[in-house]
Amino acid sequence: MYTTCIFCKKPLHSNEVVEEFPVGRRLAFDPAKGRLWVVCRKCRRWNLTPLEERWEAIETCERIFRDTRMRASTANIGIARHREGLDLVRIGEPPRGEFAAWRYGARFGIRRWRAGLGSVAAGVAGGMLGPVSLPIVGTLGVALTGPYMAWTYLRPIAKVRVGGKASADGPVSSESVAKFRLLDVKSIRMLPDDGAPGFGVQINRGLRKAWFEGEDARRVAAAIVPFVNQWGGTRDTVRRAVNEIESSGHPSRFLTEVANREHGGLTGRTGYVRAMPTPLQLALEMSLHEEQERRANSSSDTRVSPTQSSASSRSHV
Ligand SMILES: [Zn+2]
Repeated sequence: MYTTCIFCKKPLHSNEVVEEFPVGRRLAFDPAKGRLWVVCRKCRRWNLTPLEERWEAIETCERIFRDTRMRASTANIGIARHREGLDLVRIGEPPRGEFAAWRYGARFGIRRWRAGLGSVAAGVAGGMLGPVSLPIVGTLGVALTGPYMAWTYLRPIAKVRVGGKASADGPVSSESVAKFRLLDVKSIRMLPDDGAPGFGVQINRGLRKAWFEGEDARRVAAAIVPFVNQWGGTRDTVRRAVNEIESSGHPSRFLTEVANREHGGLTGRTGYVRAMPTPLQLALEMSLHEEQERRANSSSDTRVSPTQSSASSRSHV
C-alpha cells in the first residue's frame, strides 16, 4: 500500500474511517467498476489503488457513504464528508463528460490559481521597488535572470522510460530513460502514425529531433503535455475540453484524431501541442491520463471481474 502521491510525492495522510484502507483523507470510488482512488489533497490528482486492496474497502466506502449526510451530489456523483474528516466521492456510472468535468475541473483550476498567484507576487514586488530603483533592479535582473532562466529551462523536468520492447520470438531491446527539459516541452508535436496508438510524438532534444512511437509515444506525451498546460483552465475551458473528447466518442480515438487533424497555420507546423487552442490542450492531457489509467486497470483486472463483485456487494445490501 502506498502512502505518498505517485504524482507529486506528497504524503496522502491517513484516515481511521475505512478500516480496510486507512490511507488518504479523500477517497473516490466507483462501486460498479470496482475502482478506488486516493485523491491527493496537494495536487488533486487521483491515485488508483491496486486491485488487491480495493473490493472490501469499496464496500465499506459504500456503507459509510449511505450512512453519511450527503454534502453535494449530481445525478451520478455524490460527495459525503464523514465527521472524522474523510471525504468520500461516489461515482455511479456517470456519462464520461460529467465525470471528467468534475474530476479535472479542480485540478486545472488549482493550477490556474497557482500560476496567477505567481504573477501577482511578481507584480507586487515590482510595484514596491518603484521607478527609483529601476536601474539597480535592471542590473540585478540581468545578473539573476540569466542563470535562473537557464536553470528553469535546462534542468530535467521529466524522465520517461522508453524503448522497452519484448516480442514473442525476437530479442528484447533494453529500456533506456529519456530526460526532457522545459525547453524541449515547447517543441512537442503529435503526428499521425500507422501503428497503435495511432499517433507518434516528436520532440526536439537539443538540436536533435527525437521520434517516439507505440507505447513510448503514449508515455512521453502523458509526461510532457501537463507542462504545456501549466496554466490550467477555467471550468468553462474544462467543459469545452470534455466536449472535444465527447465528439470523438472515446479518449483513444480523440488522440488519434488530434494527431491527424490540420490545425490551420503554416504547413509543416501541424501537430504542435503548444499552438493548439487551450481546450484542445487540456483535452489531450485528460485523454492521455485516462488511457494510462485504463491500461493500468485492464492489466490488473484479470483476477476478479467487476460484475462478479458488484453482484456480491449487492447481496450484502
Ligand atoms: Zn499529489
